Amino acid sequence: MTGNFPQVVLRERFDWIALDFVNTTVLTRSGTVDALETATQFFAWMERATPPGWRDLRPEGLPDRRTLHVEAVHLRMAMDRLLEARAARSSVDQATVHALQRAIGWARTSRDLEVGAHGTVAITTRYEAVHPAAALAPIVDDAIRLVASADPARLRRCRADACLRWFVDTSKGGRRAWCSMTTCGNRAKATRYRARHERQGGAA
Ligand SMILES: [Zn+2]
Repeated sequence: MTGNFPQVVLRERFDWIALDFVNTTVLTRSGTVDALETATQFFAWMERATPPGWRDLRPEGLPDRRTLHVEAVHLRMAMDRLLEARAARSSVDQATVHALQRAIGWARTSRDLEVGAHGTVAITTRYEAVHPAAALAPIVDDAIRLVASADPARLRRCRADACLRWFVDTSKGGRRAWCSMTTCGNRAKATRYRARHERQGGAA
């Protein structure tokens, strides 16, 4: 048994909703654990992650929820390829561009000025679905903002075995190796510690 490890891992967040979304699958010793495996699991993930506009764009009927799920799985692959291309500073392939292009058209937005009683002014964005999978559009927006703003040298996959998750290294030195210190970082440190211990034990 792998215990709760995959569940803990799949609840970790990465500052960008796009990364949270791409990182919804993780490799373990007993195979891949995928938070988007079934429509129900995916829906639960969206409820927890609440991407922008989720309240407005959440589909109600079962057929629409299924469409959203199928599109989500496709889009996750396209977003992975987008990150891959950006990190390698290579051009994005046409199929990926097409997938992203489609998805951004699934939701329409309008903006309102919200004026508070104490001189506060804020812009609120309202979303309107034009496709059952509209809830994915704001996640794509976030992915585009991410690749436009992050230094490609700091956009990388986790170096731990059995983890392919993406992260943006915001550390001062820019030499972070793991997506998360709590899980992958600690596991890697524990493995190193054990190896050192065994070597010392063997030498004694
Ligand atoms: Zn990791």
